[in-house]
Amino acid sequence: MELIQSLPGVEDILPIPQQVGKDLKMADSQVWQWVEATAREIFRRAAYREIRTPAFEQTQLFERGIGEATDVVGKEMYTFVDRGDRSCTLRPEGTAGVVRAYIQHSLYAQGGVQRLWYGGPMFRYERPQKGRQRQFHQIGVEVLGSSDPRADVEVIALATDLLTTLGLQDLVFYLNSVGDRQDRDRYRQALVDYLTPFKADLDADSQDRLSRNPLRILDSKDPKTQAIAQDAPSILDYLGDVSQHHFERVCQQLSDLGITFELNPRLVRGLDYYTHTAFEIQSNDLGAQATVCGGGRYDGLVQELGGPHTPAVGWAIGLERLTLLLAMLTPTSATAPDVYLVSRGDRAEANALQLAQKLRQKGIAVELDLSGAAFGKQFKRADRSGAAACLIVGDDEAAQGTVQIKWLGSGEQSSLAQAALLQDADAFQQQLRAAQGKG
Ligand code: ATP
Ligand code: MG
Repeated sequence: MELIQSLPGVEDILPIPQQVGKDLKMADSQVWQWVEATAREIFRRAAYREIRTPAFEQTQLFERGIGEATDVVGKEMYTFVDRGDRSCTLRPEGTAGVVRAYIQHSLYAQGGVQRLWYGGPMFRYERPQKGRQRQFHQIGVEVLGSSDPRADVEVIALATDLLTTLGLQDLVFYLNSVGDRQDRDRYRQALVDYLTPFKADLDADSQDRLSRNPLRILDSKDPKTQAIAQDAPSILDYLGDVSQHHFERVCQQLSDLGITFELNPRLVRGLDYYTHTAFEIQSNDLGAQATVCGGGRYDGLVQELGGPHTPAVGWAIGLERLTLLLAMLTPTSATAPDVYLVSRGDRAEANALQLAQKLRQKGIAVELDLSGAAFGKQFKRADRSGAAACLIVGDDEAAQGTVQIKWLGSGEQSSLAQAALLQDADAFQQQLRAAQGKG
């Protein structure tokens, strides 16, 4: 029978740790949990609250929220008609859904600033490559209801905090301002004037964009187009006073926080509702898929989607790219259980099942051997499990209500009453921690 495999660009995240030299490297799913836990904690400390929006929405939402002239909407959406004849689309990004929910549930009526974060799978029909998938995952933040440059700086600082807390270095943070609508109208004209004489040398997509969405040409990955864009006029020379002031404040406050950045006037968000700050955090270790985090201000989007005028700023981090970088750091595994419990014989197995349950209720992570194999084989598995101690229950122990404890580091072994072990579970836990070097 032909095996059914996952679709191209759609991957499993497995719980299998890899042996690298003497180290047990974190399993993929463990790396993901670590990233997610770290992000949650960083969001909590800054008073961001989680919002969960659906994995699919009306197609229109993305057409209006991302823009029909973008690759995402033009080429990459998973769109289907449901049985009720509605056009639905698997979400290609998170912001549109968050803004839809913000408007639909009148979150603005709560007054003040809404600080939100989200995470989950996103879907884009792209050519699968390293760091580019069809189902991928993002975590992101959105601050709705503040036009203060400090909001831009706060979200940027959250991103850099998260990445450095995870131990990533050598990231480059690119910053730009795309101004407001008037600035961009003036700039767009200057850009078209500059690019038109080169039209024949631009890649096909960019030629197409020259009339529809010329700012996006600056974003082209085609080398020839990039070379031409290199000498294009800079949007920073077209900022009006308000935009200039906002941008200066952002730059100054970032510097005050010790966050280093590089100005990149070719970094754009090509839609009308993107305003002011735009930024990306890139790594040189990811090849062509260099951008780990992208974000910026979108003061016009809430209104574009039918809500009240609401300035907003946010970012999204691609978790596949982030975890690729973390895998290069070879963090060691922490998936090991505290104890590995082996047993053999009917009575012992029944007793061990109960002991496992009781220890778990006391907060101790127990891996119970279910093999029924000879003790020798079970001991081998105990060694490989990474547990600090192996608990052994044979029929004798079961009859007497005792358990053998073998410390896997030192090989020391002793016998103890199960009741005493459970009674002093806290002390046992501390011994386990100490043996695992978790302090
Ligand atoms: P790229 O230029 O690499 O296609 P993008 O501009 O389409 O990225 P955004 O829409 O800004 O990306 O999404 C934010 C982040 O989500 C990206 O920086 C990246 O880390 C991640 N991301 C986007 N598309 C994919 C994908 N197909 N596979 C994996 N990660 C992705
Ligand atoms: Mg893309």
